[in-house]
Amino acid sequence: MVPTPIGNLEDITLRAITVLRTVDAVLAEDTRTSSVLMKHLGINKPLQSYHIFNEHQSVQRLIERIKKGEKIALISDAGTPAISDPGFLLVRECLKNGIEIECLPGPTALIPALVNSGLPTDRFTFEGFLPHKKGRQTRLQALQNEERTMVFYESPHRLLKTLQQFSEYFGADRPASVSRELTKIYEETKRGTVQEIIAYYDEKTIKGEIVICLAGKP
Ligand code: SAM
Repeated sequence: MVPTPIGNLEDITLRAITVLRTVDAVLAEDTRTSSVLMKHLGINKPLQSYHIFNEHQSVQRLIERIKKGEKIALISDAGTPAISDPGFLLVRECLKNGIEIECLPGPTALIPALVNSGLPTDRFTFEGFLPHKKGRQTRLQALQNEERTMVFYESPHRLLKTLQQFSEYFGADRPASVSRELTKIYEETKRGTVQEIIAYYDEKTIKGEIVICLAGKP
């Protein structure tokens, strides 16, 4: 499991480069996206497609290949595989089959967003993406008594709707932060109460990738 940059290509680790150079095959969520990174790193290795739509079908074949001695790396479009990305299924099946897996430490969006937020970092819960429709309200209700800092992934066009729901479920005065385009040229973190952040983004065209951090219940 090899984490790749979430924006700035300099965030690849030396060890990730070594592993990508030495494995027999690299599985990639989107081979076109990952071939840009591989080219940048000067690594010429065939990329094989591995994404949510084919992971169930391909996992057994991969297990067989690994059992025969092939060394396989998994990368996702950005960040750490299996974190709101494909990977969990492969890890679970490898472990079931007595295959040791190794996840390299490296880029992921949630950690810099959490640290940038200025909210308590000693205990936190990673919530990933909220369900879009079914189960969304139940999830929000279940978090109402959460005392730890909460970290959410969100898309730009849902940001305002989510913040408005946070105001409803957690209160307009709850401290929060929105980190956008981490590690990229237009990186910004907006901190304040939920209400202040809504006012900041209201009527703005919101672009880029987003992580929301929300303070826990006082
Ligand atoms: N595996 C990735 C990781 O380790 O962070 C997450 C993949 S998930 C499909 C994509 C989401 O991660 C985006 O919608 C956004 O919420 C967050 N994300 C990824 N890159 C980001 C960045 N540069 N700035 C802010 N959020 C980012």
